[in-house]
Amino acid sequence: MSESEAKALRIILLGPPGCGKGTHSAWISEDYGIPQISTGDILREAVAEGSDLGKDAQRYMDAGKLVPDEIILGLARERLAQPDVARGFILDGFPRTIPQADGLAEILEKLEQRLDHVIEITLDREELIRRITSRRVCPNCKAVYNLSFKPPEREGICDRCGARIVQREDDTRETVLQRLEVYERQTAPLIDYYRERGLLRVVRADEGYDATRAQIEGYLGGKTE
Ligand code: AMP
Repeated sequence: MSESEAKALRIILLGPPGCGKGTHSAWISEDYGIPQISTGDILREAVAEGSDLGKDAQRYMDAGKLVPDEIILGLARERLAQPDVARGFILDGFPRTIPQADGLAEILEKLEQRLDHVIEITLDREELIRRITSRRVCPNCKAVYNLSFKPPEREGICDRCGARIVQREDDTRETVLQRLEVYERQTAPLIDYYRERGLLRVVRADEGYDATRAQIEGYLGGKTE
């Protein structure tokens, strides 16, 4: 994207687990040359390293609950201070509560940065459950697959890096129901929060990847004032 040299692009992807936030963040990151910042990925790395943060976070994650806001805001503050976010970022899975959204607004104000778009991806509950339970991920390069509609070329092996793909610990049916409930209660209020601020754009995920991608491109390609 040659034009993107001049203008920074700061995006939040919002939506329930399984709606495709990670999948769409990945191409947006590549096409617009901005880093994808996933608090879930940062936490999973901390868990894999066995750090104190990881140990703390793991019990919330395994139970399908949210990690406390102060921990998440600490991670976000640190990540958003890195030089690679100067031209923008795409936030995937953060913020997830009103206090996190307020905290993000404070962080950005200090950095003299503004959000451009909050993109909400919608999908009905049964389809979310179906997609999450058939999701597989690459623990090495973080590529996301789906056994129903986006399987890897070789069964069980990541197309991109050749590692063995796995099911996330929290993608089991019981944990998924808990995560959906947490989304409705704690994260869905952000939809109104960002609508009131004139930042919300809504796209539907029920017509498949290409249609969702085209809707997102429609928003990102459009001029923001
Ligand atoms: P995700 O990969 O975004 O689905 O996140 C996986 C899990 O990490 C969530 O179910 C939470 O336990 C935790 N997590 C990730 N991001 C956040 C956040 N912004 N706030 C609280 N917990 C989070």
